Amino acid sequence: MADLLQNGLVGSPCSPRHSQECSHSGGEERLETSSAKKLTDIGTRRIFSLEHDIFRESVRKFFQEEVIPFHAEWEKAGEVSRELWEKAGKQGLLGINIGDHHGGIGGDLYSSAIIWEEQAYSNCTGPGFSLHSDIVMPYISNYGSEEQIKHFIPEMVAGRCIGAIAMTEPGAGSDLQGIRTNAKKDGSDWILNGSKVFVTNGWLCDTVIVVAVTNREAHSPAHGISLFLVENGMKGFIKGRKIDKIGLKAQDTAEFFFEDVRLPAGALLGEENKGFYYLMQELPQERLIVSEIAVSASEFMFEETRDYVKQRKAFGKTVADLQTVQHKLAELKTSICVTRAFVDSCLQLHRVKRLDVATAAMAKYWASDLQNRVAYDCLQLHGGWGYMWEYPIAKAYVDARVQAIYGGTNEIMKELIAREIIHDQ
Ligand SMILES: Cc1cc2nc3c(=O)[nH]c(=O)nc-3n(C[C@H](O)[C@H](O)[C@H](O)COP(=O)(O)OP(=O)(O)OC[C@H]3O[C@@H](n4cnc5c(N)ncnc54)[C@H](O)[C@@H]3O)c2cc1C
Repeated sequence: MADLLQNGLVGSPCSPRHSQECSHSGGEERLETSSAKKLTDIGTRRIFSLEHDIFRESVRKFFQEEVIPFHAEWEKAGEVSRELWEKAGKQGLLGINIGDHHGGIGGDLYSSAIIWEEQAYSNCTGPGFSLHSDIVMPYISNYGSEEQIKHFIPEMVAGRCIGAIAMTEPGAGSDLQGIRTNAKKDGSDWILNGSKVFVTNGWLCDTVIVVAVTNREAHSPAHGISLFLVENGMKGFIKGRKIDKIGLKAQDTAEFFFEDVRLPAGALLGEENKGFYYLMQELPQERLIVSEIAVSASEFMFEETRDYVKQRKAFGKTVADLQTVQHKLAELKTSICVTRAFVDSCLQLHRVKRLDVATAAMAKYWASDLQNRVAYDCLQLHGGWGYMWEYPIAKAYVDARVQAIYGGTNEIMKELIAREIIHDQ
């Protein structure tokens, strides 16, 4: 990272040590989004500092120069280029919140959040950077052996090894305890059989964390699940096809088959039969990411729509001159800013490891539902042009839909929230 900074290639992400001071080099005087000129302005929000702003500028530039111009081509291909991953690695955008003692960049959580937000502001959903850096890499960093950390983290930071995680199966999604993919011991090796579906980064990935049953006799299925690091090219590991989706067109979502894949003992991630516990530990961060992307996408759609209605003419004036439109914009902005305040507070809690399961579930369900409402209203305010692919709002509308589904559906989020309510009595 130091090299990248010296070469002036990237703004500096804040390190956790650093951010004690840097979170407050602008601090209390910074505008919240409700008072800012635009919801996507750089230099706003109390949780960030001047250093974060400089970093954000470099990330925005990266998406403007390296992603936006190529995205339409990647949508046709159903995947982004590998070159993009390596460019992101060179720019220091992968594994930013992974400790430098593990070969990560050593930046703080807010620096990761800046990358999630800037990708949402670019309206380009192709690169699966957040899944790679902030969902897959933490499993390796938190539960991996020294050998696994050394083997995977530096390559993942460089963008040469792309990561994925495969929990969902054709017959089991919300009910993860119902998975059938299994690994059986053979001497010190494991033999993996089964199939997975809907794997983000699945087509391009070089390594995938596979969730598998390792003890069918456990007193509950959750106590008999383990995680394995499976590498591309292993005999019997078959990538089926890139799945054709209604949105996220440039995202390579794939299906996998495992036919007697022989895994060495060193492929087990963490302890045997502790997989479900690890998933429960890591899922709040995944839900925070979805909520962050959801509110950022809402901010992007709001600004697109504000620009559109201010120039679109109807009945001798602009659409923005109509009072009903103004009220709609007022409602949208208020809902987005209220949600932003909650999600920022979740970020603050998570930074000090205090984000609990139910609060993360609230953020995920609320923000992704909001994103879909904003998408619906903003497309409506574009009229027929909003339905045309050439308008960014059309893409933002279809891409919004999945946010209420993956990372645990919003119905499951309500289950998690409700469980806490009932237990409290
Ligand atoms: C684009 C995309 C990318 C994805 N990426 C990944 C990935 O990288 N890795 C991965 O492992 N998975 C991934 N997924 C899978 C995703 O997490 C699942 O689709 C999701 O968890 C829902 O599971 P399911 O599709 O099997 O739906 P089901 O579980 O079959 O649910 C069907 C319906 O029943 C409802 N339902 C189920 N149980 C309950 C309940 N107890 N109470 C109330 N309602 C309930 C659900 O909310 C839903 O409305 C991805 C999915 C998509 C679409």
